[in-house]
Amino acid sequence: MSFEGQVVVVTGASRGIGREIALGFARHGAAVACVATTEAGASATASAIEAEGGTAKAYACDVSDAASVETLFTNVGADLGAPSVLVNNAGINRDTLLMRMKDEDWDRVLAVNLKGAFLCIRAVTRSMMKARYGRIVNISSVIGQTGAAGQANYAASKAGLFGLTMSVAKELGSRGITCNAVAPGFIETDMTENLPAEMRELVMKTAPAGRLGTPADIAPAVLFLASREASYVTGQTITVDGGLTL
Ligand code: NAP
Repeated sequence: MSFEGQVVVVTGASRGIGREIALGFARHGAAVACVATTEAGASATASAIEAEGGTAKAYACDVSDAASVETLFTNVGADLGAPSVLVNNAGINRDTLLMRMKDEDWDRVLAVNLKGAFLCIRAVTRSMMKARYGRIVNISSVIGQTGAAGQANYAASKAGLFGLTMSVAKELGSRGITCNAVAPGFIETDMTENLPAEMRELVMKTAPAGRLGTPADIAPAVLFLASREASYVTGQTITVDGGLTL
C-alpha cells in the first residue's frame, strides 16, 4: 500500500484518531494536509510528520463553515496539489439527555459531524472527477449504528454519515471515486477521556478484544479504504470496535 505522489486531506488531524491517520498516510508516502480548528493544533501534527521525514502542511478550518472549507481546498490545491484522498474525521460531541438538549447542542453537532463532511466532499469532488480517481473515507461511529442514551445528536449525525457515504458512492462510482465509512467503537482519545468508569468496564467486559481501542487501531482500516487496492470496495462501513457491537 503506497500513497507516494498523492495528496491526502485529513480533517480533525490535531489530535486523537485524526492525528494517527495523518501520521499513517505520511508514513506511506503521502503529502498530508492536516486540518484542525486552529493553526497551532494542525501544525503540531504537521511538525510531527516532518520530524519523521514526511511531507505535511497545516491548515486552520472550521469544517462546518462553507466559506472556510472552500478556502481550505483552494489553499491545499495551490500548496500541495489536488487531493486524491479525503478523510472526514473532524467531530465533536455534546452529550446530554434529549429533554435537556438545547437547539444549539443539536445544531452544532450536526453542523460539524455531518454538514462538515458534506461540505468537504462537495469541495473535493470537482478535481476528483476530473482526475477520474478519488477516495473518500468518513469517520462515523458505532453509536450511529446502535444509538445511545444521551447522544441523540451525535448518533443522528453519525447515522447520517452512512446515508451520505452510500449516496456519494452511488453518485461518483462511475468516475473512479469510492466513498466508505469507518465506525470506531470506544477509542482512547480526548473525546472519551471523561467516560464514566462503569462504562469503561462494561466496554472491556463486553468487547471480545477486552479493551478500549487506540487511534492506532483505526488508522489501518482508513488507509486500506483509501488505497488504490480498495477500488472495488465502495459504500461500505468497516466497524473497528474490538467486537463490541457483535
Ligand atoms: P478528538 O480527540 O476530540 O479530536 C477531534 C478532532 O476534530 C480535533 O482535531 C479537532 O480539532 C477537530 N475538530 C473539531 N471540530 C472541528 C471543526 N469545526 N472543524 C475542523 N476540525 C474540528 O476526537 P477523536 O476521538 O479523535 O475523534 C475523531 C473522530 O472519530 C470524530 O469524528 C469522532 O466522532 C469519531 N469517533 C471517535 C470515537 C472515540 O471513541 N474516540 C469513537 C467513534 C467515532 P481541534 O483540536 O482544533 O479542536
